[in-house]
Amino acid sequence: MGDYKKTMKTIKSKSKLLRFKKNNIPKKRDHGLSQAVCRICGKKGMGVIQKYNLNYCRRCFREYAKSIGFKKYN
Ligand SMILES: [Zn+2]
Repeated sequence: MGDYKKTMKTIKSKSKLLRFKKNNIPKKRDHGLSQAVCRICGKKGMGVIQKYNLNYCRRCFREYAKSIGFKKYN
């Protein structure tokens, strides 16, 4: 994410810029994966566990799982 801003700067002609915007800027969403935020580190998007209303990213989950009450069975 955010790469499209870099390429936008390199485009000089206006009509090409408009076309680029139309096709490449990510759609704004009000829910879903892109809106998921880790409640500890604030990491957005991929790797955030939303199940059971956890809202931990996978890294913070590994750290805090024991104190929340999760048990490892293997
Ligand atoms: Zn986190």
